[in-house]
Amino acid sequence: MKIHEYQAKEILRQFGVPTPSGIACFSVDKAISAAQSLGGNQWVVKAQIYAGGRGKGGGVKLARSLDEVRQFAEGMLNKPLITHQTGSQGQIVHRLYIEQGVDIQHEFYLGMVIDRTRQRVCLMASAEGGMDIEEVAAKTPEKIHKILIDPVIGLTDVDITYIAGKIGLPITSLDAARELLKGLYQAFDQTDASLLEINPLILTTSGQVIALDTKMNFDDNALFRHPEIVALRDTDEEDPAEMEAAKHDLSYIALDGNIGCLVNGAGLAMATMDIIKLYGGHPANFLDVGGGATAEKVTEAFKIMLRNPKLQAILVNIFGGIMKCDVVAQGVTAAAREVKLAVPLVVRLEGTNVDLGKKILAESGLPIISASNMADAAEKVVNAIQKGA
Ligand code: GDP
Ligand code: MG
Repeated sequence: MKIHEYQAKEILRQFGVPTPSGIACFSVDKAISAAQSLGGNQWVVKAQIYAGGRGKGGGVKLARSLDEVRQFAEGMLNKPLITHQTGSQGQIVHRLYIEQGVDIQHEFYLGMVIDRTRQRVCLMASAEGGMDIEEVAAKTPEKIHKILIDPVIGLTDVDITYIAGKIGLPITSLDAARELLKGLYQAFDQTDASLLEINPLILTTSGQVIALDTKMNFDDNALFRHPEIVALRDTDEEDPAEMEAAKHDLSYIALDGNIGCLVNGAGLAMATMDIIKLYGGHPANFLDVGGGATAEKVTEAFKIMLRNPKLQAILVNIFGGIMKCDVVAQGVTAAAREVKLAVPLVVRLEGTNVDLGKKILAESGLPIISASNMADAAEKVVNAIQKGA
């Protein structure tokens, strides 16, 4: 689960991490009064969307007067913001964060993620923070320094001194950096975060160390013990198809391609996407209907896939074990009728009652393309699109 920058900063403050003062708001007038109550003579107007890269897309602006605050707030609020992470349609900005502006001496990068192979939290840091960190990672990965944190001991002073030295943090700011890093690690650990990124972590002209930007994601499997984090969810920012799928207990993830996949079992779903790729196609989604899917669940799954305007064909790949092929076939035909399916549908069934299942499909009167195995199914679905194109 993701949250907004201003919410993540609120969490960090609870762990003693210094951040600029700021106020979240939903209207231009509130943005002005926020700037007034923050005081000072420069403010940063920041669009709050889950995607990153806002600075380059015009979603982070430094205002030097209240008039500029108004002008920038008007320019962002309720308008789409396009960044390299939003796709070409952009994401509508519904919330702004008004922060007191700070004077930057240097921008560092700091990140924490879980290294699944090593089963530890990995702390990454670089002297080359700011808006081009992706390029640093791609072209000069040696400029990103890493340490793995021992979960029993936590982040140690030795770790901190090492990483501060690597990124060239001045010795006079080491105490401040130590406090900040310990707070960050505690925040990461205690909230069951999966990612915590401070880019940039800044050294101000007066030598303070501050988290200027914050991105925080959480492990969905641990949300049951963090109702306070679940309460921060902003459904405006989430994929409506994925939310609908969650309601019906379907595991659905939207992808970029045009072939919808409806599969039972995560492993088979992954293999189905692989074989579609092998035959030159592009999956539109990952969708696991689970082991005991009913006809109703299959219908919901079809509806969710069909919300995608890019969808050009569907591949159903079911291995009937506990789930019988005839029940699946009934579900598929009922769903195809209910949603008045207009794209080619390829079905590959295998397992219990497969003959009966195939008979139901064949006698349904629907233009279903039956496949005998996975390779055959992938080939047929890719060909069906080419014919239609
Ligand atoms: P992102 O582009 O979505 O990662 O947004 P950030 O919050 O990282 O802001 C992008 C850039 O805006 C930062 O790297 C800074 O260079 C600049 N910026 C943000 N806040 C301030 C500020 O208070 N003062 C100054 N001078 N620059 C800022
Ligand atoms: Mg940033």
